[in-house]
Amino acid sequence: MKTLFGRIFFLVAAALAYSSSYASIRVVTSTSQIADIVRNIGGSEVDLKVLMGPGVDPHLYKATARDVISLQRADLILYNGLHLEGRLAETFSKVNKLGRTVVAVGEVIPKDRLLASADYEDAHDPHVWFDPSLWVMVVGSVEASLIAADPSNAALFADRASLYKKKVEALSIWAQERIDSVPESRRVLVTSHDAYNYFGRAFGFQVVGVQGVSTASEAGLADIINTADFIKKRGIPAIFVESSVSPATIERISRDSGARVGGELFSDALGALGELHEGVDGEKFDVGTYLGMFKYNVDTIVRALGD
Ligand SMILES: [Zn+2]
Repeated sequence: MKTLFGRIFFLVAAALAYSSSYASIRVVTSTSQIADIVRNIGGSEVDLKVLMGPGVDPHLYKATARDVISLQRADLILYNGLHLEGRLAETFSKVNKLGRTVVAVGEVIPKDRLLASADYEDAHDPHVWFDPSLWVMVVGSVEASLIAADPSNAALFADRASLYKKKVEALSIWAQERIDSVPESRRVLVTSHDAYNYFGRAFGFQVVGVQGVSTASEAGLADIINTADFIKKRGIPAIFVESSVSPATIERISRDSGARVGGELFSDALGALGELHEGVDGEKFDVGTYLGMFKYNVDTIVRALGD
């Protein structure tokens, strides 16, 4: 009898401990980049769902029936905005009308820090995560949104956000030190689509995207020929495929120009959480995190274009 009582007591205590640490708000994010910020700030206090997994192209992504259910149940929905999630805009607007809180966290960045979009007039380049000095503002926007959704955890969220912002700021310095080893004439990044213009501006690379800012249109034959000519003229040793775009165009340009494929870069989605890559100096990068993805990309670029 005593044992049974003890067992019941244990179960009740365990249930209480579980409920006290159970997430208090349900958050849905479009991209894995934004999800990573939520994970860092919200921790176990947030029940997080990400719509787009590794390798998913946000320009083309459409909400599934299951996504719509998650969105209808969410306390807070965070997306990049700046037209990144072109085909989700209508869904977000619908759930917003149903009373869900929907925030375009990328749109917190002042307009004068944004680059123009080559594809659409009056639109901006949405790939803001590739400049850590812009991404840190997005971290601030996620922090404010989480605090507004769950004020009872305000102090906890603010502490974690402050720690995470320092890591994102330190990333710029880390990346610049690596990039300094690439000769200036070789700081040219040729990839499938224009995802890296903010990266180029932040770290002094000329960026050539064969396909333009969005992946909605395919690269034409003229784009392929022009890019191959450019590579030959500039003597660029390597070009790159992207994790969320088909590699066919880049492979074709590699054959036509003689430049080798220097590796696969993450563009519009992070990798699988827990997947580790080893850097030049033995540092291991978890490509399922923003910091790890960024370091992996820099490492891949520096290895391919450096001496
Ligand atoms: Zn893109």
